[in-house]
Amino acid sequence: MTLEEKSPSSARILIIEDEQTIIEFLRVGLAYEGFQVEVAYDGWSGLRLFNAQEFDLLILDLMLPDLDGLEICRRLRAANADLAIILLTAKRELPDRIAGLNLGADDYVTKPFSFEELLARIRSVLRRRGRPQEQTVVAAAGIVLNSATYEVHKDGKAVDLTPKEFALLELFMRHPRRVFTRETLLNRIWGFDFAGDTNVVDVHIHHLREKIGDRAKSLIRTNYGLGYSFRPDEDDPLA
Ligand code: CA
Repeated sequence: MTLEEKSPSSARILIIEDEQTIIEFLRVGLAYEGFQVEVAYDGWSGLRLFNAQEFDLLILDLMLPDLDGLEICRRLRAANADLAIILLTAKRELPDRIAGLNLGADDYVTKPFSFEELLARIRSVLRRRGRPQEQTVVAAAGIVLNSATYEVHKDGKAVDLTPKEFALLELFMRHPRRVFTRETLLNRIWGFDFAGDTNVVDVHIHHLREKIGDRAKSLIRTNYGLGYSFRPDEDDPLA
């Protein structure tokens, strides 16, 4: 079976966040995943954008320069009961996180977070709210991956993956043939401020290949000098 590129998600996301690095990290990643993304750099701009356009999901930083994130959460929840809300919080903000959930936020991630972690939360809250999104199950080359149950089967047998291995495989399967550099994989799977060695990627790829029975390295290819790509097609002209 050949995996088709998924059709773009039509969900519209508003990001209210004042940290430039996080904004760029989110904007690029979410746009690549097919989401329509708008950004507000402070609370008042966020409220104005929210009033002017329709959104399915809000990614809200709690620490903003002008308005309190909790106050924004309260107002937007009151204005739109259908809006999915995910909070970006710092570790020390535990009381605020709980207050945010009490004010109607659906979920939160704690900084620093990886893109795949946030993406999993986004998919999960959109699924819970019955919003348009990509398919939950992807299948290729005898591998079936379910991003709702976190189960992977190869030729009908369950494969036990760590969360990082699962995130790697999901990223590959959702973007067949695309070459990912080690830096991109680190950024996406380990987080935007991961400070370790890029060897961690090679080690995880090695384990993943073992677990999905790809010792020949024909499914997850090494593109020398570039990175890795997922090649499910037997008759791949570039094989
Ligand atoms: Ca902030």
